[in-house]
Amino acid sequence: MLEIKDLHAGLDGVEILKGVSLTVKTGEVHSIMGPNGHGKSTRSKILIGHPAYKVFSGSVTWLGRDLLSLPAEERALEGLFLAYQYPVEIPGVNNAEFLRMAYNAKLKHAGKETVDPLDFEDILTAKMESLGMDSKYRERAVNEGFSGGEKKKNEILQMAVLEPKLAVLDEIDSGLDIDALKVVADGVNKLKGPDNAVLAITHYPRLLRYIKPGRVHVLIKGAIARSGGYELAEELEKTGYDAYIKS
Ligand code: ADP
Ligand code: MG
Repeated sequence: MLEIKDLHAGLDGVEILKGVSLTVKTGEVHSIMGPNGHGKSTRSKILIGHPAYKVFSGSVTWLGRDLLSLPAEERALEGLFLAYQYPVEIPGVNNAEFLRMAYNAKLKHAGKETVDPLDFEDILTAKMESLGMDSKYRERAVNEGFSGGEKKKNEILQMAVLEPKLAVLDEIDSGLDIDALKVVADGVNKLKGPDNAVLAITHYPRLLRYIKPGRVHVLIKGAIARSGGYELAEELEKTGYDAYIKS
């Protein structure tokens, strides 16, 4: 599904990713762990096509296509989804309406018929009920005045509605209380299936205990320092990242 090869990227003149390689197959859940400031969010933003970030060399193949040559919008329409570490507030834009527009844009792109507001109500209600989310997520403006945890839950609602092929979750668990964590983990587990993949970036094995990634990678100084199975996450909780940073 996704093949990142020797990716060097960053901001104008500053290399942040220094040779990242990573292969994710359909149906897999991977986790990227690592200390702050080592390039985890940069890698996510490169995948989604954030205009401020530049690719210097390397390649990213997604579903057999050159991901880096696709405009950001096309990536999203084709089923790439990023849950932001810091979700933005969009005052004046109703959350349910925002979700319907995004949902319909994907249907249209796939050559399917779009849904009207009434039909979308049912789709949204079903998703909200399955995640145990209350009606404020329907009524309020996108993330406006939401707490940190509510914003993260709203990212998961977006993911549930859009059913992406590849979901990249950037520290979706930071700042969550235990109930919100369960909503988030539940959302990820409901999305998981043979046709999609999840890349979860996190510092903590807490979320990973619920979503059980098959592969765990440690990102240090802009490169993958080590990869392993789920047990690597548990090991990192005990050892920390010091040994990796020093070597
Ligand atoms: P992580 O997500 O692993 O904590 P980031 O990818 O956010 O790390 O950041 C990697 C490095 O790049 C950090 O040193 C950070 O300060 C720097 N960086 C990221 N974005 C910007 C930016 N827009 N301007 C300046 N420096 C940035
Ligand atoms: Mg980050």
